[in-house]
Amino acid sequence: MSDIETASGTVECPVCADDIILTDVMQNEIVECEGCAGEFEVLELNPFALEELEEDDEDYGE
Ligand SMILES: [Zn+2]
Repeated sequence: MSDIETASGTVECPVCADDIILTDVMQNEIVECEGCAGEFEVLELNPFALEELEEDDEDYGE
């Protein structure tokens, strides 16, 4: 029916090295690390690759 892929597993947080548990996540889904409260975008599912989301404190201005 759908070709949306999901994956489950654990991945090491790139910031604090804690294990982030991923359950049926999709590519580009935003996940949060319980260890450092950081937010990451899932770039790849197999193997997992995360990209840290930047804080938007300085999103104003040009
Ligand atoms: Zn973390």
